[in-house]
Amino acid sequence: MRITGISLLDDNYAWILRPEDGSACAVVDPSECEPIRNYLLGEGLALGWILATHHHQDHVGGIPDLADVTGRPRVLCSRADGERLPDVNKFVANGEEMMVAGSKLTVMLVPGHTNGSVAWHFPDIKAVFTGDTLFTGGCGRLFEASAEKMYDSLLRLRALPEETRIYCGHEYTTKNLKFALEVEPNNTKARERLGNEELRRAQEEPTVPARLGLEKLTNPFLRADDPSLMDRLGTKSPLETFKTLRKMRDAF
Ligand SMILES: [Zn+2]
Repeated sequence: MRITGISLLDDNYAWILRPEDGSACAVVDPSECEPIRNYLLGEGLALGWILATHHHQDHVGGIPDLADVTGRPRVLCSRADGERLPDVNKFVANGEEMMVAGSKLTVMLVPGHTNGSVAWHFPDIKAVFTGDTLFTGGCGRLFEASAEKMYDSLLRLRALPEETRIYCGHEYTTKNLKFALEVEPNNTKARERLGNEELRRAQEEPTVPARLGLEKLTNPFLRADDPSLMDRLGTKSPLETFKTLRKMRDAF
């Protein structure tokens, strides 16, 4: 499996999952049709699946046209979010498993950013597509579900194997890490990482994906149960810490 990122809109990423044997590929979060279509045509690839992490337009805007010009791909989303999208033709449930683009996919429903947000986990290739739920260096805003649900979603993502690569929906890493250093100024790993990611950005390289192991050391939203972070924020529980972090980040 080869995974290729396509930059769309201002700072969005769509991800193309391409089996080694040249059979039909999958695309995650095509916010625009044309760049994806051109890539598929250029590479001579058929599109078998569209995976939507959630219903926001900057993740699904390209689906109607793309579904039209590429035959009949299966368009997958949760029921809660997919019911708001006319082209979804398969609703997925938490824990459901299936083969997509030649690899095993395990569906994780991760409510928080929206009620029906999905993380598409491919355990055999150690990759998870997290949309706007878990970002590299941060997490998404709480638009629909409760902080409790979002925190639980993040904890389930955190429990994946450490070598899992996080493919999220936006290029937000450096801003997220600046916030991380605001709340944990003594986190040397976060400081070192910010330096590395800023270098990447200066060379116009993406900072996504990132390994979960590094996220656990540097992403404050995965560190809400860290005693020294709780001390610093004066919070009494991991959930209260998470809520405080999210409020601070909203205003950052
Ligand atoms: Zn979103």
